[in-house]
Amino acid sequence: MKSAASGSNSVEIGKRNRHLVLDVIRTHEPVSRSEIARLTGLTPATITNIVGKLQKDRLVEEIGLGQSTGGRKPGLLQLARNSRLAIAVDLAATELMVALTNVKGEILRRSKREIVTEIAVMVPRILDAIQEVMTCPEVGGATIVGIGVTTPGLIDQATGTIIKSVRLDWYHVPLKSIVQRHFEVPVFVGKDTTTAILGEQWYGAARHANNLIYVWVGTGIAVGILLDGRVYAGATGMAGEFGHTSIEWNGARCRCGNEGCLEGLASLEAIATKAASRALSEEDAVTREKLASETRARVDARVEPFAVLDAACTGDPRACEIVREAGRHLGVGIANLINLFNPEHIVIGGQIRPKDKEFIDTAIEVAKSRVLPEPGSSVTITVSDFGQDAGLIGAAALVWREVLGSS
Ligand SMILES: [Zn+2]
Repeated sequence: MKSAASGSNSVEIGKRNRHLVLDVIRTHEPVSRSEIARLTGLTPATITNIVGKLQKDRLVEEIGLGQSTGGRKPGLLQLARNSRLAIAVDLAATELMVALTNVKGEILRRSKREIVTEIAVMVPRILDAIQEVMTCPEVGGATIVGIGVTTPGLIDQATGTIIKSVRLDWYHVPLKSIVQRHFEVPVFVGKDTTTAILGEQWYGAARHANNLIYVWVGTGIAVGILLDGRVYAGATGMAGEFGHTSIEWNGARCRCGNEGCLEGLASLEAIATKAASRALSEEDAVTREKLASETRARVDARVEPFAVLDAACTGDPRACEIVREAGRHLGVGIANLINLFNPEHIVIGGQIRPKDKEFIDTAIEVAKSRVLPEPGSSVTITVSDFGQDAGLIGAAALVWREVLGSS
């Protein structure tokens, strides 16, 4: 029988211990060696050895001295901030956003481009924005360790291929290999709602949650579902299409082909479309139809809904009513989610901003009033602190999870 310390087992144990120490430093920094020993259960000698190697590899740095408990003041450790940086790419936002991020998910530099559906136009735009951020002065002497891309739609995680994205109008696009061909660092591609959960777990409010639902509100609506600590993808990876749950019998036709979908009642696009048709309610039907379709075109350019939300922020009564109506619909949907999954935490995020209080407060109020008492009393509903950077921070976490996990 092989002993635990022999051959590949000892290598595996060494890797696991190193990963364990890195994880404790990441989640508890600034932290002393003795505290790491206490939290990991490893011996002080093992910790000293592993930390020494991590410092040599410039993954960990000492940032001063902590309180003494009798002897020498202990050195405090944290993940090294500037030796390694990652590129985050968000294709799920209203515009293409690319950012340079450090290991804490902090954004050091950003670049934006308009999103268009033509792949031949969009791919050079993505590559150009990555190149711009990768060569900006903020990189300094750091090593770029990877590129994380978050995208809407159904993704084949193994190959990083977008199987189907209705929002981008992309089908079978091998995004990972397209980007990988142009850069020497590893590329990781993830679904928007899944990476949003990862961002919340690594840097946000959900660091200790095992049962969490991330409600992504943007041009569309979708959820990421974390059940017993694992992301739930469904039988064919399609779980989470919350926006296409039908909540209005005989409602308006949705782009998915169904009727009365939540997305058509509570998304940013729904807010913009409603604002356009309400503003024109005095006009004749032909003009109303024409202007509504023009507004829809502008919505596709992803500008209009924030004007309505901004007007609601300043107390404009008509904008407030439209935004509250959308919030009420979302609240009903969230109550259904809570009754179905009994999560401990619901995070509302995506393109909706923390300042959009009319929308968020209405949704939370309605969700709490509609939910069953037992699951309702144990759930916390919060807004993502990341606002419109949620996609970028999730994309960054996608890289850091791989880099620190395999270091
Ligand atoms: Zn639909």
